[in-house]
Amino acid sequence: MNEQEKHQLRTRVAERLRLAGPEKVDLVALPAMKVHMEPVTLARKDQLAASIEAAFDARIDRTRVRKTPTPLDDASLLAVCRTCRGACCKSGENHAYLTRAVLSRVKAEQRMANEASLLESYLDRVPEAAYQGSCIYHGSQGCALPRSMRSETCNRFLCYPLKQLGRDFSSAGYAQLAVSTVADEEGRMLLLSDGETRRVRPETWKLASP
Ligand code: SF4
Ligand code: SF4
Repeated sequence: MNEQEKHQLRTRVAERLRLAGPEKVDLVALPAMKVHMEPVTLARKDQLAASIEAAFDARIDRTRVRKTPTPLDDASLLAVCRTCRGACCKSGENHAYLTRAVLSRVKAEQRMANEASLLESYLDRVPEAAYQGSCIYHGSQGCALPRSMRSETCNRFLCYPLKQLGRDFSSAGYAQLAVSTVADEEGRMLLLSDGETRRVRPETWKLASP
């Protein structure tokens, strides 16, 4: 989307929401994960198993992953990340940030009898296919791990664009648009206003073109 298209979109949203003008609509560019799925190979699962086994033997790392404050609620955060489709998950590779501290927490919470059962539980959740070039758990519906089994890194990370969203989220007279770099794909544009998130369809802004 070029600068002229961005301006047209902001103008159109301002008109629809009866805001004072396009300057009341902030546009934040989100990264994008392209949707190309590929089967998860046995070699990748073996690497995950090796990574988990190495973590069992590692010294516990007590570094705390801080939660970044955000005015957005969990559902809104999820809606933003769905718009991008998990670009930050690329760095999860075949380890998924499953450190000794994470594994110890999950083992205790799930009352797992031993490390072998925990390892099996993680291997069982690897999807058959994952996003190409992304984390082994990055399946077609997003992360294949339940939140309780994810690392603190996964549960707490907010990328820089996401940190810019939520300003005046519940205030009247102001809106934000989260637009992924592949904006013309379905589901890649999100409107945040009046404490709610709403999808913006690509044809909505295309209609605005001269
Ligand atoms: S935190 Fe940022 S990069 Fe990661 S999925 Fe959400 S929007 Fe995308
Ligand atoms: S475990 Fe889930 S949230 Fe974490 S990097 Fe992998 S796919 Fe993303």
